Amino acid sequence: MNQYDLIVVGSGPAGRRAAIQAAKLDKKVLVVEQGRRVGGVSVHTGTIPSKTLRETALNLSGWRERGFYGQSYRVKQEISAEDLRRRLLITLDHEVEVLEHQFSRNRVQHIRGKASFVAPDTMQIVKDDDDIIHVSGKSILLAVGTRPYRPESIPFDNKTVLDSDELLEIHSLPRSMVVIGAGVIGIEYATIFSALDTAVTVIDPKSTMLDFIDKEIVEDFTYQLRDRNMKLLLGQKAEKVEKLPDGKVAVTVDSGRKIITDMVLYAAGRMGATDTLNLAAAGLEADSRGRLRVNPETFETSVPGIFAAGDVVGFPSLASTSMEQGRIAARVAVGAIAMEPQKYFPYGIYAVPEISTCGLTEEEMKERGIPYECGIARFRETSRGHIMGLDTGMLKLIFSLKTRRLLGVHIVGEGATELVHIGQAVLNLKGTVEYFVENTFNYPTLAEAYKIAGLDAWNRMGEKKDAPADTVKLTDTTTSTTVEESVKSEKKKASSK
Ligand SMILES: Cc1cc2nc3c(=O)[nH]c(=O)nc-3n(C[C@H](O)[C@H](O)[C@H](O)COP(=O)(O)OP(=O)(O)OC[C@H]3O[C@@H](n4cnc5c(N)ncnc54)[C@H](O)[C@@H]3O)c2cc1C
Repeated sequence: MNQYDLIVVGSGPAGRRAAIQAAKLDKKVLVVEQGRRVGGVSVHTGTIPSKTLRETALNLSGWRERGFYGQSYRVKQEISAEDLRRRLLITLDHEVEVLEHQFSRNRVQHIRGKASFVAPDTMQIVKDDDDIIHVSGKSILLAVGTRPYRPESIPFDNKTVLDSDELLEIHSLPRSMVVIGAGVIGIEYATIFSALDTAVTVIDPKSTMLDFIDKEIVEDFTYQLRDRNMKLLLGQKAEKVEKLPDGKVAVTVDSGRKIITDMVLYAAGRMGATDTLNLAAAGLEADSRGRLRVNPETFETSVPGIFAAGDVVGFPSLASTSMEQGRIAARVAVGAIAMEPQKYFPYGIYAVPEISTCGLTEEEMKERGIPYECGIARFRETSRGHIMGLDTGMLKLIFSLKTRRLLGVHIVGEGATELVHIGQAVLNLKGTVEYFVENTFNYPTLAEAYKIAGLDAWNRMGEKKDAPADTVKLTDTTTSTTVEESVKSEKKKASSK
C-alpha cells in the first residue's frame, strides 16, 4: 500500500491549494479526484463557468455600452447558447492546463477515482476501470465540496427544469425563466439571463434577499433589477413545479399564482458531497446538509489527522476562502506554522450589476452599538463614470466615529469586485478616513469614488473629526489579530502538535 504525508480528496480550490502547499514543504502528496478533469466545482460547474458566461453575455449583448447608445444597443443581435458555450470551453481548457502544470511542477501525484475511508488513516480508491487501490496518509484532507440540492418533488429533466450544473449545457436560450432561490447563485444567473433579454422571475420564501450584504446596497441593487423588469417574488414559496405537454413548465406559488415559463432553474441550496466517503469508518459524521464540523483555526475535524476545508465546511463557501482554508489546513497537517487568515475578507457577487463587500455592514454597526458615520459616492459623480456612461453604481464606506477607522466597504456597480480590494487593504491595515482624504487617486478612475466617499464621511463627521483618534485598544470592532498575536497562537499550535 502506498503511504503519503498528505492525501487530499478533491481538486477544487481547497484541495489544489492544500496539495501544492504541502508539496512545497517537501511532503509526499496525493490528490484523488473523481471528476474527468482536475479543478472541482470551481473550474467545471461553478465560479469560472458562471463568470465566463457573465462576461460573454455582457460583451455580446453590449450591456456596458447601453448608457451611451440606448437600451436597444446590441453587439450581436441573435445570441445563441453556442456563442456562450464556445468561450466557456476555451476558458476551462486554459484553467485545467494551468492546474495540471502546477501539479506536475510541484510533483503532486494525482489519481482519478472515487475515495472513501476504510480506516481513519486509510482510503480505498475506486478507479474508472473499477480497479481498487488502497492508500494511507499521515494526514487526510477532505476537500470534496458540494453539489446542488435536488429535492424529489422537483421534476429535473436536464432540459427545462435544471440545477445550476445543468444550466451550462443548455442548447437554446430561454425566452422566460423562473429561478427558485434568491441566494447568490440564483441571483447571479437570474441577472445574467435577464441581461440576455430572458424574462426572469425569482421566487424565494424569504421576504428579503442577500441578508449578509449591507441593506442600502441591496435596496439599490433591487431597485435596478425591478427597473429592468425582473420580477422578484420574495416572501413567496414555489409549491409545485410541473412539466406541461407543450414543453413549457408551470410553477405554482403559495399565493395561488401560476407562472408558465420556458425554463426553471432550481438554485435553492447545495449539499456537502460526503455521502460516499464512508465517514463512519473514520469515526466522522456529517450534518443534515452533508457538511463537516472543523476547528475554525486549524480545519482539523474531531478525528486527529483528518482535516476538511472548502465548501464542505460551510460558510462562506467561496473559491477564494476555500483556497486559504486548504493552505492553512495543509500547513497544520504537516506540522508547519500557519498564520491565521485576516478576519475581513471580500465577498463578491457577480450579478449584473456586481456587488462586493468587506467588513461590517451598517446593520452590524448598529447591532454592536458602534457610533459610526458613512460616506457615499455615486459612480456618476466620477469622470470615469461619465466616460463609461454609468448612471448607476455606488460605493459606501463606514467609519468608526471613535477611531475614524474604516470598518466597512460596500459597493454595487461596475467593477465592484475589483474595487473592493482598496477598501479591504485599508480596513485590514487599520486605516482611517484620513487615508482617503489625504491620498491622491489616479484620475479618471472609478477608484476616485473612494476619495469622494471619504470626503463625504469626513464632512459629515463634523467636529468629531478634529478630535484626536482614539488610540486605546479598540473594543468597538472585531479587530483582526495582530501579527504578534498570530505568531503567539501559531507557536502555541505548533507546540501542541
Ligand atoms: C454557480 C456557482 C458560482 C460560483 N461563483 C463563485 C464566485 O464567483 N466566487 C467564488 O469565490 N466562489 C464561487 N462559487 C463557489 C466556489 O465554486 C466554491 O466555493 C469552490 O468551488 C469550493 O471549493 P472546494 O475546494 O471546497 O470544492 P469543489 O470545487 O466543490 O471541488 C470538490 C471536488 O471534490 C471531488 N470529490 C468529491 N467527492 C469525492 C470523492 N469521494 N473522491 C474523489 N473526489 C471527490 C469533486 O469531484 C470535486 O471536483 C460558485 C459556486 C457555484 C456553484
